[in-house]
Amino acid sequence: MNFPSRFGVIVVGGGHAGTEAALASARMGVQTLLLTHNIETLGQMSCNPAIGGIGKSHLVKEIDALDGAMALATDKAGIQFRTLNSRKGPAVRATRAQADRILYKAAIRHTLENQENLWLFQQACEDLIVESGEARGVVTQTGIRFLSDTVVLTAGTFLGGLIHIGLENHSGGRAGDPPSIGLAEKLRALPFRVDRLKTGTPPRIDARTVDFSVMESQPGDIITPVMSYMGNRELHPTQINCFITHTNEKTHDIIRSGMDRSPMYTGVIDGIGPRYCPSIEDKIVRFADKNSHQIFVEPEGLTTHELYPNGISTSLPFDVQLELVRSMKGFENAHITRPGYAIEYDYFNPQDLKYSLETKHMPRLFFAGQINGTTGYEEAGAQGLLAGLNAALLSQGKESWCPRRDEAYLGVLVDDLISMGTKEPYRMFTSRAEYRLILREDNADLRLTEKGRELGLVSDARWEAFCKKREAIELETARLKSTWIVPNSPESEIINPKLETPISHEYSLMDLLRRPGIEYADVANLKNVPEVSVPDQVSEQVQIAVKYAGYISRQADDIERMRRQENTLLPKDMDYSIIEGLSNEVKQKLILMKPETLAAASRIPGVTAAAVSLLLVSLKKRA
Ligand code: FAD
Repeated sequence: MNFPSRFGVIVVGGGHAGTEAALASARMGVQTLLLTHNIETLGQMSCNPAIGGIGKSHLVKEIDALDGAMALATDKAGIQFRTLNSRKGPAVRATRAQADRILYKAAIRHTLENQENLWLFQQACEDLIVESGEARGVVTQTGIRFLSDTVVLTAGTFLGGLIHIGLENHSGGRAGDPPSIGLAEKLRALPFRVDRLKTGTPPRIDARTVDFSVMESQPGDIITPVMSYMGNRELHPTQINCFITHTNEKTHDIIRSGMDRSPMYTGVIDGIGPRYCPSIEDKIVRFADKNSHQIFVEPEGLTTHELYPNGISTSLPFDVQLELVRSMKGFENAHITRPGYAIEYDYFNPQDLKYSLETKHMPRLFFAGQINGTTGYEEAGAQGLLAGLNAALLSQGKESWCPRRDEAYLGVLVDDLISMGTKEPYRMFTSRAEYRLILREDNADLRLTEKGRELGLVSDARWEAFCKKREAIELETARLKSTWIVPNSPESEIINPKLETPISHEYSLMDLLRRPGIEYADVANLKNVPEVSVPDQVSEQVQIAVKYAGYISRQADDIERMRRQENTLLPKDMDYSIIEGLSNEVKQKLILMKPETLAAASRIPGVTAAAVSLLLVSLKKRA
């Protein structure tokens, strides 16, 4: 194999965004180079060894629906799987897997090394090659020049990375890895809006020094959920328990006593941290009335003793870290293997991006992942896939693509970032999606795989499996509609005890399934009805479609209304200050954000349905 003299796409950075970007582009048949600091750290989890969770598993399943790597790697590496919100409706149900970080990295690397059209190269990228204002390649730290049609930058927390432990700080991309300083300086000289964010991680602990007998144990689900539509339980390695301990008054006193050496509370760190993953010192200050916080003690893998104490992310000095850890039940003799730390890094205002994730200021340059102001592997992976896809499409001379808000969480993520920007690390939640009953984690393939196939992302194997599943759903739906139960038949006797009102006339199985208290399993295989064998993924879709039909059709109406609003343009010269009835707050937001459409205006936080109606009236008056 010879290196191509010119690549279609060069991806800089082999984290979660970079690996999905490179794989997506290569799957599209485009010659792709993945240039990264260190091949050993491909797919490395910088912080918690877990994939998925509420809102996040929705993104993982969407990546999977478009044939990305994250979900299958999780199935191969997950050492504890759970369905969160299992008693709530399907819209907010989520899959979370504790991952063995060594197995996860190995699975990602295996996928990368076996991907056609993909070239890996280890070296730091120091600069971009720019021709006529467009990105046309990269220069490495030793001066090697790689030419390309497009460049996707996914440098994570590495750009100008500054690591803090107490009042000590040093440059770094994350613990043990170099920062990216030269490239950060080059990018700061370009007309992008750059700012600083921060994130933090807890100290790691040696399990041999922990007393688990005094902690609450937290097992995974007995029937383990599967992350990938192409995955199965046989892929899962040995499953193990997590544990729970708590902080206490003593822990909180220790933390308070160390605040004068906290980089966050002495003004050494300016970057804003993730609101939903606060450091332990932040929690003690923000929730001063709480005298205890739950800490999840999560194994980092099957072949290591290291533990990840989820909930005590900190940048306090090491002596304070050790004391606070040892004040907790079970951790009295704990040995810290790696201190916790915070890292500050450059990120770019995502409002300077197009929906394809191409930058507005430099054509052919795409940004994805943490550098766009997000936090989390899943958010990074999803953006990476989109940026890699669109970079490949551009190199093929084709139109870009981005899913709409009613099609995917990925659409919500990109739209939120581009229309509103972010001042703090952005993470996904189901509450960010207005059409969450339609954007479920169980139907990401039905929403996206066909489009992925059309774009060239989806392999033959996945496409065949998907078509089979879609057909099976149709067949099973048709069977339930056409199979009838009559009163006093043996079948009706089986179902009757479950019904509030017994069967009084002939019913189809579909009608019966619609009734409260009846589940798919009740109607699936009745006596005298020919037996069928329906996979869980299929019966789940049939049941959800029937049980939630009313809500789903109402949401479909809302989507239709939103599409009309999407087509209603707000003139650039619209004077919001004179619209009667709008609050000053809404006026200010509209003047600041200048939404392009009525739909974009409606998504600005604080812009109510009443305000949207006033905008519509005002538009009609102008017409
Ligand atoms: P990364 O995973 O950071 O990958 C960047 C890649 O780019 C690396 O491989 C790097 O070597 C490479 N690279 C960078 N610059 C260059 C260059 N010039 N040349 C070549 N290669 C380059 N997420 C959460 O959800 N919750 C948390 O609590 C949380 N805490 C975190 C704490 C810490 C200390 C860190 C470091 C991260 C934390 N994260 C957290 C964030 C999570 O790690 C990221 O969201 C995720 O890894 C982002 O993926 P990415 O692909 O954008 O970047």
